[in-house]
Formats: sequence, structure tokens, C-alpha cells
Amino acid sequence: MCNICNGTHVAKSMNGFTIEFVPCPDCGPMDPKVKAEKNRLFEERLAAAEMKFEVKSA
Ligand SMILES: [Zn+2]
Repeated sequence: MCNICNGTHVAKSMNGFTIEFVPCPDCGPMDPKVKAEKNRLFEERLAAAEMKFEVKSA
């Protein structure tokens, strides 16, 4: 596994006092398919969390 990004394809770059997230210089940017899948999973989790919230607040 890549030491720079730990397989996430995202590297942290110190820019003065701020940290920037940049595509890993070793692995390159994330595969669009992988990125889309991660976004889908994230949206599913978000939807599930919203449903729980609605049940609690009802
Ligand atoms: Zn990498």
C-alpha cells in the first residue's frame, strides 16, 4: 500500500498554515468509478442517518 496516501489516493499537502488535499503524486487521482462508489455509499449512510433522525424527532 502507498505510504503517501494509504491507498486513499488523497495526499495531504501542507500549504503554509493550511492543509490541502491533493491527488496522490504516487498513485494519481482516484479512479472515477471508485470515487462514484464511495459517493454512493456516503449518500446511503447519509440517507440512513436522516431516517434515524426523523424517527427520533417524531
Ligand atoms: Zn498513493
